[in-house]
Amino acid sequence: MQNGMQLFSSTMRLLLRWLRLCFRRGHKRLPRCVREPWSYSRLLLKSLYFNSLTNSDVVMDALFEPVFWLVDHLTRWFGVVFVCLVVILTSSILIIAYFCLLPMVLDTYSTAWIIWHLCYGHWNLVMIVFHYYKATRTSPGHPPQIKCDIPAVSVCKKCIIPKPARTHHCSICNSCILKMDHHCPWLNNCVGHFNHRYFFSFCLFMTLGCIYCSISGRNLFLDAYRAIERFKSLDVEPQGVPVTGVGWLIGLLPPGSAPGQSYYQTPAPPFTFRDKMFHKSIIYMWVLTSTVALALGGLTLWHAMLISRGETSIERHINSKETRRMQKKGKVFRNPFNYGRLNNWKVFFGVEKRSHWLTRVLLPSSHPPYGDGITWDFTLHRKDLMAV
Ligand SMILES: [Zn+2]
Ligand SMILES: [Zn+2]
Repeated sequence: MQNGMQLFSSTMRLLLRWLRLCFRRGHKRLPRCVREPWSYSRLLLKSLYFNSLTNSDVVMDALFEPVFWLVDHLTRWFGVVFVCLVVILTSSILIIAYFCLLPMVLDTYSTAWIIWHLCYGHWNLVMIVFHYYKATRTSPGHPPQIKCDIPAVSVCKKCIIPKPARTHHCSICNSCILKMDHHCPWLNNCVGHFNHRYFFSFCLFMTLGCIYCSISGRNLFLDAYRAIERFKSLDVEPQGVPVTGVGWLIGLLPPGSAPGQSYYQTPAPPFTFRDKMFHKSIIYMWVLTSTVALALGGLTLWHAMLISRGETSIERHINSKETRRMQKKGKVFRNPFNYGRLNNWKVFFGVEKRSHWLTRVLLPSSHPPYGDGITWDFTLHRKDLMAV
């Protein structure tokens, strides 16, 4: 029995050596695209196996690295698709608003209401287009790549550069972002220090625009919905009603018809193709704008709450953790970037005097944000920025 085991063991060892030898010979003949990933995987395996600092987290990170890589690359590519989707959907709503809603408003509303709709609708449209364009095209801001004396709180492990306060690394953009909030696929851009205001204003005005379309088109939607229901019932019923002697008895036959004679009475189609398209467009517009108003409205409220607290989305998680940690120690965590509710909004919108609420918040404005995103003024919470 022991002899048998020894024989099996020696055979296996010989087989493994032979396989290793075969692979070494064939290794040079393998194409480069296979050889390089194979060498990299072996190096990765050895560095994990012979590393005294390896633990389960490092192994899991290494195993999920290809998944993260794939998600990052897909998000980068999907960003382009998402931006096209925003443009196409917004354009479709605009076309419906101009070709279906506007003629109805011009025909039925009083002059005062027409002026209100024309002014509000176009102002809202300009605000949406301006802020979306600026949010996608403005760089969120990056820390300096060259060596300089910037107040840094840590070093980015991927970029190998000092990270100022509120800066985080975005794996999709593959760079560090100043006052990073999140990477937005709908903008195909990171939301950071220099485009945070554009992002929030876009969300706000898009929500307002959707609410406006939803309320303005409500009655038209209800009419269109009823009309579509009528189309369905007409489609289900046969095109003609067979009329027999019974029909004649109950008075369905036209005068002069002989009793017992059968024929089909085909009613004229009540709706043309144009009518059907009109009703379907109204339903599409109302459903889309109402859904977006609800979803984007929730997101806008969430960001408004964060801005009131002087936090970004990332800092919300960090600060919550820190609050719990300090609570256990019997201490209270205080966010150093919270300057007070009103001051936070003034800093966010760049409001320095009263007229700025109109010129910088309610009208398109390209003014830069407060500060450079690298150094932060911690004394702002002690003083009122301006008398508003
Ligand atoms: Zn980085
Ligand atoms: Zn990013």
